[in-house]
Amino acid sequence: MAIATVNPATGGLVKSFEAIAPPVWLGKVEGAAAAFEIYRRTTFEQRAAWLHRAAEILERDRDRLAALATLEMGKPLAAAIAEVEKCALVCRFYGDRAAAFLADEVIETDAGSSYVTHQPLGAILAVMPWNFPFWQVFRFAAPALMAGNVALLKHASNVPQVALAIEAVWAEAGLPEGVFQTLLVGADQVAAIAADPRIKAATLTGSEPAGASLGAACGAALKKVVLELGGSDPFIVTETADLAAAVRTAVVGRLLNNGQSCIAAKRFILLEAIADEFLDRLTAAFAAVRVGDPMDPAVDLGPLATAAIADELDQQVRGAIAAGAKAIIGGDRAALVAQLPEPLRGGSFYPATILTDIPEGCAARQAEFFGPVALTFRVPDFDAAIALANDIPFGLGASCWTQNPAEMHRAIADLEAGSVFINGLVKSDPRLPFGGIKRSGYGRELSRQGIQEFVNIKTVWIA
Ligand code: NAP
Repeated sequence: MAIATVNPATGGLVKSFEAIAPPVWLGKVEGAAAAFEIYRRTTFEQRAAWLHRAAEILERDRDRLAALATLEMGKPLAAAIAEVEKCALVCRFYGDRAAAFLADEVIETDAGSSYVTHQPLGAILAVMPWNFPFWQVFRFAAPALMAGNVALLKHASNVPQVALAIEAVWAEAGLPEGVFQTLLVGADQVAAIAADPRIKAATLTGSEPAGASLGAACGAALKKVVLELGGSDPFIVTETADLAAAVRTAVVGRLLNNGQSCIAAKRFILLEAIADEFLDRLTAAFAAVRVGDPMDPAVDLGPLATAAIADELDQQVRGAIAAGAKAIIGGDRAALVAQLPEPLRGGSFYPATILTDIPEGCAARQAEFFGPVALTFRVPDFDAAIALANDIPFGLGASCWTQNPAEMHRAIADLEAGSVFINGLVKSDPRLPFGGIKRSGYGRELSRQGIQEFVNIKTVWIA
């Protein structure tokens, strides 16, 4: 994939970038290793000052940075602004708490003194996706840098300007040279970079094939890797749910970020008693969604990030319909494009879509739909809801809507997911660990658990 900014709202090429050649990235890896020898000796106070300064820069340049994200991947501008603000939040969160999260832990043993201490690993390779092009990077970088690691970012090829802007934020914040570097390289270079002995660990947020590929490279080199991969999260609605709140949340959960979120609610599992009413309300809400230029503050749903993503989603929906599913709203990309003003007709738009009657055995039941498409299912009872929720290769974040305490406990105990949200939107929060199970990946980001992923948990025993 070429490294370039293509405006997904129009399909127009804005700017192309040359991928750096291996000797150049080898030099940057060397620079990272050299920087680590100095950076690892800096104090938590110094690092916290750099992270607080980065937070100030993010807030000062919020509108300019947000506009870059919208230009490169098409999310509505208000969502991009909120994303940049959340990056400032995570910088302050770790700036203020890393020292406590990584404090030595005294443990009584037969020793005169024994304790656990936490040390940074070195240069960490971060392979990141375009969907939250600032947030995904900062949620990795803030804890990794506070722990004393140095970072090399290989960002998605369609967000090069964001990738360079992030590097510039860290440089202006005052991080020593080589501590945070962006590598403009294609995915074909990732395995070789990961194999370099100066890279000590890696993390990837993205698709299953990309995760499997980096996981294999790190396995061969015996390096730690954290993988945050895809999902097809369930959203269970029972008879006792507050339907108004559930529908409101379902709309946000499915359409946020133009439907391109790993933790989006993707499969709506509805108890028969409320299914008709829920679907009527969800359809009305989807019908009211305003599609158009994501720079326009009145627009709710912008284009998908690339033409290839829109084509793939279209194929998935057509495949489901050919297999017997029904689109009760949306599903007709050509009809949507025909309604758009001329400059947007080359954009990668896709309508807000609801599929029902998805038959057993249909590929859609096991796949991730990365766009504004709600897959809906009716079930006779709560047992069937849990069974259907778990009948998927993924396990990221599940949402369950019920007022029944027994059902709440059952959902928490039995849903196969990295997180369970009862009567709420699945979302990431710096205070809570974030990650998946099954084919959604392994390892955790955010919170105390996140900062402990890339440290040597060193045992000290003194006679
Ligand atoms: P993607 O194609 O896997 O791209 C993600 C990153 O991996 C990009 O930097 C990409 O580089 C790189 N990459 C692609 N193929 C690779 C390979 N074979 N080896 C090494 N690196 C490779 O994913 P995407 O389409 O951008 O993102 C969508 C997916 O990410 C969805 O499945 C979504 O659910 C998942 N996601 C998960 C989380 C989470 O926290 N669990 C968060 C966000 C997104 P190029 O751009 O150069 O190809």
